[in-house]
Amino acid sequence: MAGVYIHIPFCKSLCGYCDFYSITDNSLKAALVQALMREASLRSSYLEGEQVETIYLGGGTPSLLEPDETAALLEAVRNNFSPGKNPEITVEVNPDDVRDGYIGALRKTGVNRISLGLQSWNDKLLRYMGRRHDAAQSARALDIVFGEGIENVSADLIYGLPGMTIADLRSDLEKTLAYPVKHLSAYHLTIEDGTRFGKLKKEGKLKEADEETSASMFGVLGAVCQEHGFIHYEISNFALEGYISRHNSSYWKQVPYIGLGPSAHSFDRRSRQWNVSDVKKYIRAIEKGEIPSEREELDRLTVFNEYVMTSLRTMWGIDLLHVEEMYDKELHDYLVNLSDRYIRYGLMKREKNTLILTDQGKMISDNIIAELLADL
Ligand code: SF4
Repeated sequence: MAGVYIHIPFCKSLCGYCDFYSITDNSLKAALVQALMREASLRSSYLEGEQVETIYLGGGTPSLLEPDETAALLEAVRNNFSPGKNPEITVEVNPDDVRDGYIGALRKTGVNRISLGLQSWNDKLLRYMGRRHDAAQSARALDIVFGEGIENVSADLIYGLPGMTIADLRSDLEKTLAYPVKHLSAYHLTIEDGTRFGKLKKEGKLKEADEETSASMFGVLGAVCQEHGFIHYEISNFALEGYISRHNSSYWKQVPYIGLGPSAHSFDRRSRQWNVSDVKKYIRAIEKGEIPSEREELDRLTVFNEYVMTSLRTMWGIDLLHVEEMYDKELHDYLVNLSDRYIRYGLMKREKNTLILTDQGKMISDNIIAELLADL
């Protein structure tokens, strides 16, 4: 089993919180699509022997591509890798890009999952974030997506924004879940250096949500999603039964994936590889038949730590038998001993051979994970 990620590094404008690699000049869009197809062909052996179960177009803004460009990229994936019978094919879509006929045409390309970047239903907060859409466009986009018969729809929300109240979050959740969305990704705002928000923070012009508000918001998020029948399967991700994102889950389960495009990362269980974060350099290199990337061989401890970091964020938790089989008894015992304290504090629980965070533990997941990382 394997995944394919395609990065479309263009945005009409940059949002205040975003640190993904993206540029606002999309004049190289056609050249990039050609380069992506070529990269798929140059790296067709990367997933040798693995069946592709998920394809994900992210960004940036993949909804800036025309449906025929998306179709060409999917065709390149089908021609160069080995898709399974019914791969999950997701495209991230911004509400303001849902133009007439777009979703229907996208569906014909084989796309069967849409991830809509709603972020909030509060126009004031949307403007503060620098989003290009408003709540009315979100409602229209959702109506069109469902009207076109795409039933596997995920919505993205951001919470913990400066000035955002718990009532604002509850309202965002209720408005989103009033639609038949099957999946929700809700991320707490993080302020990254190099972003507009990062600059405002340095200048003392941005007040982050305090810990108490953040914790209350996380509690409200979990409670409202649960009331609507959603499974909290990862710290920031919720889904109805049968709609857990296969693509995201494969990252957390250390399934190999190839990332095509500028700044895209790839993982083959032994190494990590990342392409240059520069559209022009990327296109020039690919045109010469070269892959502009760096590579890091992963040692056993690094892979183990990545497993701890990702699996503990999920409802499946750390599988101690897997640790013993894939790594060794020493790392197994290390985890058992270290987790004992958290189990006693009610932050973790052990179910048979699995270590899982409790709801309380999820609130301080980053701290617990940092403590569990091995440096033997
Ligand atoms: S959040 Fe999305 S739309 Fe906004 S700048 Fe980042 S990639 Fe572009």
